[in-house]
This record gives sequence, structure tokens and C-alpha cells, in this order.
Amino acid sequence: MALRIRKGDLVQVMTGKEKGRRGKVLRVDPEKNRVYVEKVNLVKKHQRPTERNPQGGILEKEAPIHISNVMVVCPKCDKPRRFGVKFLSDGSKVRCCKKCGEVFES
Ligand SMILES: [Zn+2]
Repeated sequence: MALRIRKGDLVQVMTGKEKGRRGKVLRVDPEKNRVYVEKVNLVKKHQRPTERNPQGGILEKEAPIHISNVMVVCPKCDKPRRFGVKFLSDGSKVRCCKKCGEVFES
């Protein structure tokens, strides 16, 4: 679980109408296996008029997409990649690109 997609990861959408789009993970919903990706899968939400915004309006918000539909983008390959696990000298695990070995942690 700790080695899956995390908040802040750059991911690419692999399927569906937004295929190929990239964005940062805003939020992960581990129970539903869904992620919210910045500017991806936007849905329009109607806002009620408020005192500050008496007209109301339409707000665009990210809707969650299934975690299996996105892949982490390797910054070195600049391509969506599967990630593997690397052990550091202190014994901790990090995620790395399966292709080039680039470590994904920042
Ligand atoms: Zn790579």
C-alpha cells in the first residue's frame, strides 16, 4: 500500500476520453482505489448564489478516476512507467522506475 500512487505524483491517464493527459495527484482515495488528478476529469458543478457571488455560477472540479487508469510518469524517461521497489542502505523501500531505475521519491 505504501508503494502505490501517492499524492503529489505526476501521473498520466492511460485510458478513457482523457487518455494521455498528465497531472499531479491531488488526493488518493484508498478505499475506493480512486485518485483525483489535477485538471483531469473535470466536472461542472453548479454553485448556488452566495452573498459574495450573487450570480452563482459553474465551478469546475476534478472527479475521481480509478487508480488502474493512471500510471506514474518517470521524470527521467518522461513516459508512464511501472514502478519497482528499491531498498536503500538504511533498509527503507522506495519506488523506482522499472526501466531506468530512477527513484520516484522526492
Ligand atoms: Zn525511467
